[in-house]
Amino acid sequence: MQIYLVGGAVRDELLGLEIKDRDWVVVGATPDDMLKQGYKQVGADFPVFLHPGSREEYALARTERKQGRGYHGFEVYSAPDVTLEDDLKRRDLTINAMARDEQGLIVDPFNGQQDLEARVLRHVSEAFAEDPLRILRTARFAARFQPQGFRVCNQTMALMRTMVAEGEVDHLVAERVWQEIQRALEEHEPRAFFEVLRDTGALAILIPELVPDQAFTAAMTALHCVHQQDGSIEERFAALISPLPDHQSGPRIQALKAPNDCKNLALLVAAVLPALTRSGEQKAPALSADELYAVLDTADLWRRPERFSLLLNVLACILEPADQEIVHTLQRAANSASGVEPKALMAQGFTGRVLGEAIRQERLRRIQQAITS
Ligand code: ATP
Ligand code: MG
Repeated sequence: MQIYLVGGAVRDELLGLEIKDRDWVVVGATPDDMLKQGYKQVGADFPVFLHPGSREEYALARTERKQGRGYHGFEVYSAPDVTLEDDLKRRDLTINAMARDEQGLIVDPFNGQQDLEARVLRHVSEAFAEDPLRILRTARFAARFQPQGFRVCNQTMALMRTMVAEGEVDHLVAERVWQEIQRALEEHEPRAFFEVLRDTGALAILIPELVPDQAFTAAMTALHCVHQQDGSIEERFAALISPLPDHQSGPRIQALKAPNDCKNLALLVAAVLPALTRSGEQKAPALSADELYAVLDTADLWRRPERFSLLLNVLACILEPADQEIVHTLQRAANSASGVEPKALMAQGFTGRVLGEAIRQERLRRIQQAITS
């Protein structure tokens, strides 16, 4: 049997980047050969094994053929006669379809090295069209490597447009889409991901509300701002969704199946934004103590102070420069109101609903004091 390093590790090594995980392809072996050598089989669908020492993944060379629509229809063929080139041919992009043998020699039947040098993301073969997830992966690699000058080549853009037009993206399951969106939000240039999706037509299916220029620009500006502050995934997602009007963001966030932390922050931003940017008014309104209290209460500052600071970070990235004062005001209101100690009021004999009302009154009083001082 021969063993080759493949995929991302070869690509990153040639780019001089740090290698995160190594994937290997084994040619000329059967599952039995692997088990005899102490590898452990993982996953029932594919002949993939874990090395007993390094725990790295070793996959038997395989070919894949699409059967029907959707993500589930792949027929996998793996046997000792499948060659390295067969295996590389099923991969998405030429820069991901290189291998390195045990002597260090690069095997590159699809000219990945040339594309690396030319900074081009190009599909390996027409079989690319068999898996719509590759559109998202390609967009994500654009987001990762754009700072180094990479772009998706015209032929690949055209192929992806055809795939979208043929309805391929409609068959992606939400979990896979979310996984790619989340990873893209953490790449160097998330904007490039959404541009590729928009330009192929995939964005119109996945997050159609962001297709209009104004919404797209607002989302990208907010995202860039959060990104520059090294914001968390929750903040990034909330920034992305922030241009959607209140009534659209809920269903969209639901459809994207974002995990709860992401979902809740994005919903919170949608819930408080209307009060901070009253429509029709040029400048945001000065909020009364009651209105400030309502925002703090909606955000459940009392029990979720960490999430409240994430909210403020996102708001600072969404609001116009002229409206930034609101963020400071909210911060001051929060600092004052969160100093109210229920215990102190209980010691004064308040209980039940009366206690709740006393807490509210004291918080309001402090907010009032904070905004007038
Ligand atoms: P990363 O640095 O994000 O791990 P990677 O290129 O290593 O990037 P993986 O998802 O780890 O990406 O996949 C390893 C390799 O498997 C890829 O380089 C590519 O050759 C191939 N691959 C993964 N997913 C697909 C897919 N959906 N279609 C075709 N080839 C794929
Ligand atoms: Mg990898």
